[in-house]
Amino acid sequence: MAELLVIGSVALDSVETPFGSVEDALGGSATYFSTAASLLTGVRVVAVVGEDFPEDHLETLRGRGIDLEGLQRVPGRTFRWSGRYVDDLNQAVTLDTQLNVFETFDPELPDSYKDSPYVFLANLHPALQLKVLEQTSGDAFTGADTMNYWIEGERSLLEEVFRRVDCVMINEAEALEFSGESNIFRAVRVIEELGPEYIVVKRGEYGAVLWHRGEIFFIPAFPLEEVIDPTGAGDTFAGGLFGYLAASDGHQTEDLRRGLMVGSVLASYNVEDFSLGRLLSITREDITMRAGHFERMIHIDSDGSVF
Ligand code: AMP
Repeated sequence: MAELLVIGSVALDSVETPFGSVEDALGGSATYFSTAASLLTGVRVVAVVGEDFPEDHLETLRGRGIDLEGLQRVPGRTFRWSGRYVDDLNQAVTLDTQLNVFETFDPELPDSYKDSPYVFLANLHPALQLKVLEQTSGDAFTGADTMNYWIEGERSLLEEVFRRVDCVMINEAEALEFSGESNIFRAVRVIEELGPEYIVVKRGEYGAVLWHRGEIFFIPAFPLEEVIDPTGAGDTFAGGLFGYLAASDGHQTEDLRRGLMVGSVLASYNVEDFSLGRLLSITREDITMRAGHFERMIHIDSDGSVF
């Protein structure tokens, strides 16, 4: 098992879906990512919260064995995001983003974090993503996520992030926006040309696609009758993938394919409740059970011939 480092937001989210709403609930890209990954491997978090962040939330994360040495508490207000899902549960409409303590955050990695062999730059200001990357070992297997907020506001820094990581994870709509293309193959090519070896395009309830040197692999989302709150699905998916890679200490195509299945299973649990309600209640047995169902759904017993 190898250690996994994540930088991202630790947030207080206010979210509205057709099934209800929450205010100032525990959220953030690093929170979802690390909670998911903690079911699979040891995970270290780099982030910042303000004085108003409930200590209980930190205790919840510590209780999962998540290493919070790199999480600072500073004067000021915690990062806040509010969003709404209207007709389309695959696409959040951002109502408000308050960077607050992230505006002046200067991430400094504890020495014990610097040799982490797996590093994930969860959705956050690309300047902060780069600062963390600069402090980690050049041998680490690295991934990065982003969103429209940074594509529109910090394009050139984001390109630099994509140039320097091994794996880019991005929503389909955001890949199209980033590339200016209207076709996902051409959009992926634009990102590929920047240098990442792997590109994972997330497609909400339609699953995800892995691109690797001209080869494509599709993973569906685990089918659910009821999705309560999709917030954090992408971060949970990434935490499942990178948690699996770190736990099995491999990053060949086959490892990523299996990791995508694990990510899909974890994301399917996350969307069954608001905030981290469901993710915090599941065990490794739940993951194994749903992974078993999933494998039967996607397996074709065949010798490869049609006729
Ligand atoms: P997801 O649904 O996986 O795309 O991510 C949702 C999480 O991203 C929420 O918990 C938010 O707190 C967090 N988030 C939203 N906007 C930003 C942003 N601009 N930077 C960092 N994190 C964000």
